[in-house]
Amino acid sequence: MEKGLISVDRWAEGSQAYFLTHLHSDHTHGLTSGWSHAPLFCSPLTAKLLPFKFPSFDLSLLRILHPGASHTLTLPSTVLHVTAIDACHCSGSIMLLFRGDFGCVLYTGDFRWEATCERAANARHVLRHALQNVPVVDVVYLDNTYSNPIYDFPPRHVAAQKVMDIISSHPDHDVIIGINTLGKEDLLIEISRALQIKIWVWPERLRTMHLLGYHDIFTTNTSLTRVRAVPQYSFSIETLEALNAMRPTIGIMPSGLPWIKKSLQKNEFLSGSFLTSRYKRGKWSANSEAQTDEQIGNIGSPEKIHEYMYTVPYSDHSNYEEIEEFIKLVQPIRLKGIVASSSCYIEPMYYFGRLCRVDQQTQLLREGHKRKENCKREREGSVRSKTSLGDVNVETGRDRGKALKGRFSGVRLSRFSILRRTHRGAKIHEYNSSDQE
Ligand SMILES: [Zn+2]
Repeated sequence: MEKGLISVDRWAEGSQAYFLTHLHSDHTHGLTSGWSHAPLFCSPLTAKLLPFKFPSFDLSLLRILHPGASHTLTLPSTVLHVTAIDACHCSGSIMLLFRGDFGCVLYTGDFRWEATCERAANARHVLRHALQNVPVVDVVYLDNTYSNPIYDFPPRHVAAQKVMDIISSHPDHDVIIGINTLGKEDLLIEISRALQIKIWVWPERLRTMHLLGYHDIFTTNTSLTRVRAVPQYSFSIETLEALNAMRPTIGIMPSGLPWIKKSLQKNEFLSGSFLTSRYKRGKWSANSEAQTDEQIGNIGSPEKIHEYMYTVPYSDHSNYEEIEEFIKLVQPIRLKGIVASSSCYIEPMYYFGRLCRVDQQTQLLREGHKRKENCKREREGSVRSKTSLGDVNVETGRDRGKALKGRFSGVRLSRFSILRRTHRGAKIHEYNSSDQE
């Protein structure tokens, strides 16, 4: 067992404290109702929802981090400071800024910070304020879901309007919308308010909505509304075809995933998302009005992918431009993607390394060179004591990077896969001197 300090969205034994950014299942993989390893820190909303997902969870292990506030935590081996910041991803989601004798680490979790979003502006303000107390952010663990310039989709309020336009233009249709067990609440509330209509949700989702404080908008009575939000896993062309045998029904899938900026040219890098997009399009569009790759360039518009099915680019993850702005704001030394296996994964340093304090390519080359030099010196018997790795008071990026290399280990990332979002998280090690980048 590795001896660790803290873990974020990762639940293996051996850390002194555990942090949960939000309750989506790819971040809770490994967490159970019988959790007993150590205190678990999360936002107030996540703490409220967590016992619903994990019924017999020992609530005495829950610790609340208020978004916007800085907290000092005394752990068995050290003291660290953590600031929780609204991630604007789903209800209760936070990003976490850690400071301690290991340096400074920002873990974004999943986040969407639109340029025009007031909540995101407040979150940016909190982050800017917190960053005033640190000389440099050593590592950003980044939501790299759409960290590729092919991903360009509009702010959520624009996409929400598209959803409402589709519903309004089908006044005699039933409408089903695919959602997860958490998230997209704002979209549903906007639809409800604009169209003066209740939204049907399944019983567990209704309970979640009540826990979130939405008591009047949602119902489990199908006779009260023609708009139903259903679990994404039950959302398929086959279901829609079966429903249409009884009543005219359309389906709307709000997601950023199928939306790419343009079709790829011959020699461009072929991303996993492109494959997934083509895969889904092919799967859903048999005998239908499928669009060709050349037609995909119509960004921000709903796409009719089947006679009864629309997709709308409503995403709870930042698009490429928003991620770029985020990196410009933080200017870290290093970036690590948190998506372990994703259709759209690309190493974030590939596009954003140029925005880091020390150009990452250059730094990696330097480190590679340094490692070789160290090995050489070790062989020659002249290497210095390993305790020099603990000198975190050195302020320059180069040396801080060197100190951190002994203490952090991120998730192992597979570079290319069409499987999406199977696991996330990071473990921050206290005494581990091996580099597991
Ligand atoms: Zn999420």
